[in-house]
Amino acid sequence: MAAIFADIADLLEIKGENAFKVRAYRRAGESIGHLAEDVAQVMHEGRLTDISGVGEGIARRIQELLMTGRLAYLEELRAEFPEGVRRLLEVPGIGPKTAGRLSKELGIGSFDGLETAIADGRVAALPRLGAKTAERLLAAIQATKRRDRRAPIGLAWPVAQELLVMVRRLPGVKEVSTGGSIRRMRETVGDVDIIGSSEDIDATLDAFLRSPGVASVIQRDTRRACALIAGGLEVELRLCAPPDFGVFLQRHTGSKDHNALLDDRAGEQGLRLTEEGVLRLSDGMLERFSTEEDLYRRLGLAFIPSELREGQGEIEAAASGSLSSPVKLVDIKGNLHTHTTWSDGLDSIEAMARGCQARGYQYVAITDHSGGLGVAHGLSTARVREQVAEIREVDRRLDGIRVLSGIEVDIRADGSLDLPDDLLAELDIVVASVHSAMGQDEDRMTRRLLQAMANPNVDIVGHPTCRIVGGREPIRLDLAAVLRAAVTTKTALEINAAPSRLDLKDDLVRRAREMGVKIAINTDAHNLDQLDFMHFGVAVARRGWCGAPDVLNAWPLDEVLAFARKF
Ligand SMILES: [Zn+2]
Ligand SMILES: [Zn+2]
Repeated sequence: MAAIFADIADLLEIKGENAFKVRAYRRAGESIGHLAEDVAQVMHEGRLTDISGVGEGIARRIQELLMTGRLAYLEELRAEFPEGVRRLLEVPGIGPKTAGRLSKELGIGSFDGLETAIADGRVAALPRLGAKTAERLLAAIQATKRRDRRAPIGLAWPVAQELLVMVRRLPGVKEVSTGGSIRRMRETVGDVDIIGSSEDIDATLDAFLRSPGVASVIQRDTRRACALIAGGLEVELRLCAPPDFGVFLQRHTGSKDHNALLDDRAGEQGLRLTEEGVLRLSDGMLERFSTEEDLYRRLGLAFIPSELREGQGEIEAAASGSLSSPVKLVDIKGNLHTHTTWSDGLDSIEAMARGCQARGYQYVAITDHSGGLGVAHGLSTARVREQVAEIREVDRRLDGIRVLSGIEVDIRADGSLDLPDDLLAELDIVVASVHSAMGQDEDRMTRRLLQAMANPNVDIVGHPTCRIVGGREPIRLDLAAVLRAAVTTKTALEINAAPSRLDLKDDLVRRAREMGVKIAINTDAHNLDQLDFMHFGVAVARRGWCGAPDVLNAWPLDEVLAFARKF
């Protein structure tokens, strides 16, 4: 809903409506986006106008959206401006005002149209734009067209969850699931695939394309609709008849490699896989499957979880019965890397502990930063001792969850740790991480990590490669040496579940696991909401073929503490 109001504000600004009105919608969108409760609940209690920036008029629009799933006002505005005009807003340097002028004064409605108008000097001739701006815009358009449009999973996943709820309510829909790379939980996705079955495919597709979250239609076929949604992600909805859902979902989950290998296997059995079912080549009969489980069984395979379908040995393992079941979110018993207001976190020790308890965990380690370089509000030795006292006090007070003392100690550039050994020895869990001097060469960086792991107090290496998804490159490491050391020193390596990190990444997790390295899946939460990152980390562990026994924080507390003492 926040994105819809932001969209209205953009459209009004393109249209040249008065600034007051534009600002009203923008503010309303922001307030709704920051609302801590469900807006439907607020409406039912008659409190919509209590929301900052929401007056009677906007309250009526919210009501219309919630009651009917549509907003006539938005549809009118969108009809006035072709999609191409709205897409101009994606170009850095083009705000709604400029987009409106380009549309009204020059009739421009696409990137190509704008490029032509710049080339023939019409943009430069517009008052207050000029040659310099036109030149800058040209570079910006080219960059926008070139830009890798893959979205990080952290952005796409929550949107996909909302879409699932929305599509489930459309007329005719029986079943619905994510598909494609988002169902395989790859760290970036090209678009959001939603796969469903419907008793009236036409009606479902129509209703989908009319829903208010859909900003513009890209394509519509007999069984498929592709659209841009408010916020800019591309969504593809594919539908089949209910009896075919199993095969259809399997075909549209992929990956390409997995499906090709499955096709080969079917061929060896005299079968051909199609979107409608399994074709028996001997008599031309089509077998239909409403579940994926039945389909895999028909091919003589154990069910293969979607995260494993990358064509990297999973079909052979499923055929021989050696595919072990990957770790699940419900297997997770604790969180061993969290921050609080003691360093750069936003919530208290007690709040974070209660948050972990609410998520069904049996234990949590509070691991604020040490006082090293480059880390905000790191703790000194004295402050760590003060904090441990509070952790022990909260632990005594709370029933049903053990609150462990811990630290995320900085690994200095020379491999030494940022706090004295006798202090670290007093703590239950020590996470050691690199936060500075990331440009070191492979040799120095590897020795730095090996030295930290050799310290018997260190239990976990946090975000081991320091990469940022779509941002910072990983540090240079002799990974084989690090993995070997993790085994010999009994140090777990982290899967940092923050979607911007996902570090270790999936293929490295698989290598680590094959060597017998224990993995700790941690949220590194800096506030309560971020405790929900856990499922992103679990997905990475699954993609790395980890079962619950491979994951330290899927173990009971006494075994975790025994591991930490390195018996
Ligand atoms: Zn860190
Ligand atoms: Zn951290």
